[in-house]
Amino acid sequence: MDAATITSWMREIDIAVRAERDHLVQLDAAIGDGDHGTNMVRGFEAVVQALDSDGGSPPGKLLILAGRTLVSTVGGASGPLWGSALRSGGRVLGDQATFDGMELVEVLAAALASVKDLGTAAVGDKTMVDALEPAVDTLRSRLADGVSLDDAIDEAAGAAEAGMRSTIPLQARKGRASYLGERSVGHQDPGATSTALIIRALQKAVTKDS
Ligand code: ADP
Ligand code: MG
Repeated sequence: MDAATITSWMREIDIAVRAERDHLVQLDAAIGDGDHGTNMVRGFEAVVQALDSDGGSPPGKLLILAGRTLVSTVGGASGPLWGSALRSGGRVLGDQATFDGMELVEVLAAALASVKDLGTAAVGDKTMVDALEPAVDTLRSRLADGVSLDDAIDEAAGAAEAGMRSTIPLQARKGRASYLGERSVGHQDPGATSTALIIRALQKAVTKDS
């Protein structure tokens, strides 16, 4: 995998969040302020534009550029969280031109660590962490089992989707939805939903690559 994998990932996210914008807005209208779909679309549209005008940076630098762009274009919680996640992930790759599956795990693990550090959420708090953490854990363990990257990333995306659905019965303990207390129960978390889209987008980019 290389810089083109990152560009392809960001394009796939842009396509996915556009297609799911109204759904993400509805989910956030139920337990937040209804801006999650527009936040994600605005952010990743700007990311794709920024990457388009980049002249040949290595993959880590592209992730850092993407993260910086999200921070500067998205006002909601998701902007700084995903922004710092992508910047931390990018730093793992330094200036290297290519990366393998285990290095992709380290990128995603750094992204997760950064989200947890900044947002102080753990699995079960009904946030994006509920989708991201199982995806990272699954990718790491399946690759360690010797499963091919294509299959492992597909399972990781499935784990993110399962994590997304697991937020429905939970009561939110972080972010805006936590202000609702018990009334947040019974709704799928918008950030976990867009995170599942982001990991599925990665699966598409990685599979296209090979
Ligand atoms: P805002 O809540 O500022 O309107 P968004 O609507 O764009 O921002 O994003 C909301 C999502 O952000 C939530 O569904 C949740 O997944 C995620 N989120 C909010 N706070 C945190 C946190 N402290 N840690 C991790 N994720 C969080
Ligand atoms: Mg919101």
